[in-house]
Amino acid sequence: MTTTLITGANRGIGLEFVRQYAQDGWQVIACCRQPNKADHLNRISEQFPDHISIFALDVADHQQIEQLSRSLASKPIDLLINNAGVYPPSDNGGFGNIDYAAWAKTFQINTMAPLKMTEAFINQISNSKLKIIATITSKMGSIDDNQRGGSYIYRSSKTAVNMVGKSLAIDLKPRGITSVLLHPGWVKTDMGGQDALITAEQSVSGMRTILNRLTVADSGKFLAYDGQTIPW
Ligand code: NDP
Repeated sequence: MTTTLITGANRGIGLEFVRQYAQDGWQVIACCRQPNKADHLNRISEQFPDHISIFALDVADHQQIEQLSRSLASKPIDLLINNAGVYPPSDNGGFGNIDYAAWAKTFQINTMAPLKMTEAFINQISNSKLKIIATITSKMGSIDDNQRGGSYIYRSSKTAVNMVGKSLAIDLKPRGITSVLLHPGWVKTDMGGQDALITAEQSVSGMRTILNRLTVADSGKFLAYDGQTIPW
C-alpha cells in the first residue's frame, strides 16, 4: 500500500490531492485544522472509507506535529505533501503598510512548517518505498520571475521555503529521499480566486504526473504543475 500525508487537506488543492490519491487506491492521511468542520473532506472520506484517515493538525503547532508523528510512528509515508499555506489579505497593503505580525505568522505556516513536518516524519518517510517530500510553493517566490513587486509577505515566505526544500534535497540525499518544490499554477481555489487559469483538478493531475515520474536526480528542482522548470 502506498501512503501519502497531506496538510491543509480540507479544501482547495489539498482536498483535490486527497480525492485523486484515494481514487487511485492510495492510503491517504488527510490532515486539517478542524476535522469536525471539514464537510467536503468528510464527504470524500465517506466515498473511500478504507483509503482516507483524517487527523487534526495545525501546522504552526509543533507539539501537535510531534504528537501526530508519535501516533503514526509505525506507518511508512511514501509521499509527504506540504500543502497548507496562507496568503494574508493584509499583504495587498504593499510598501508602507507591511503587517509584520501577519508576516511572522505566514512564515510559521508557509516556511517553517514544511521543515518541521519533515523533521518530525523523517523516520516514516525513510521507512517507505517512494521517499518523496513535495512542498507546494509558488512562482510568486521566484526572484527571477518577480516583475510586479509587492506581496512582500507571501513572496518572501515562498522564496524561503524554496531554500528549505533545496537544502532538504542535499541533506537527505544520502537517505535516498527526494525533495521537490512544486508550483501548482494559478488555481481556482479560495486563495487563487475564480479568475485563476486552471481548476484544482487540472493542477493536481499535473503535479501527480510529475510525482509519478520523479527520480532522485530530480531532487531539489523547482517545477510547475505542467513540468516546466521555474527559475529560482
Ligand atoms: P486555500 O486557501 O484554498 O487552502 C489553504 C489550505 O491551507 C486550507 O486547507 C487551510 O486550512 C490550510 N491551512 C492554512 N493555514 C493552516 C495551518 N496553520 N495549519 C493547517 N492548515 C492550514 O489555498 P490553495 O488550496 O489554493 O493553496 C494550497 C497551496 O498552494 C498553498 O501552499 C498555496 O500557497 C499554494 N499555491 C496556490 C496557488 C493558487 O493559485 N491557488 C498558486 C501558487 C501556490 P483552513 O481551511 O483550516 O484554513
